[in-house]
Amino acid sequence: MGMSVNEHDTLRHDPECIFCRIIAGQIPSERVHEDDRVIAFRDLHPQAPVHVLVVPRDHSRDVTELAADPQLLAHVTTVAGKVASELADGDFRLIFNTGAGAGQTVFHVHAHVLAGGKLAEGEL
Ligand code: 5GP
Ligand code: ZN
Repeated sequence: MGMSVNEHDTLRHDPECIFCRIIAGQIPSERVHEDDRVIAFRDLHPQAPVHVLVVPRDHSRDVTELAADPQLLAHVTTVAGKVASELADGDFRLIFNTGAGAGQTVFHVHAHVLAGGKLAEGEL
């Protein structure tokens, strides 16, 4: 139970968190980008022709916690744009569900990148 800090760096890892497990390679995912700070993989239940999650490797709860590291928050945005350009025409919608009442179901911060078609305004 609880969070551990990797002895080789300062990345927080929660063994009970599904996205920490995906980052660790313990659960398969279709990765479309990875670097030292974030990974991006396709959502299991896509809501658009391109639906990718950009996920910081460091476990934090939501975008308000992520905002404590403005460079990392900016990097998530940059990677979202890169993914939308590589997999679609470059236009995209970026969504951070924050809190259960707003539809957040995985409490490891992630940006939804929706692209590749006319996007309806609606629930995610
Ligand atoms: P939230 O509702 O927290 O904003 O978004 C969580 C997203 O993660 C959902 O869109 C859901 O489909 C996706 N998801 C949940 N579990 C997995 C998984 O094991 N693999 C992948 N690729 N996506 C997942
Ligand atoms: Zn996590």
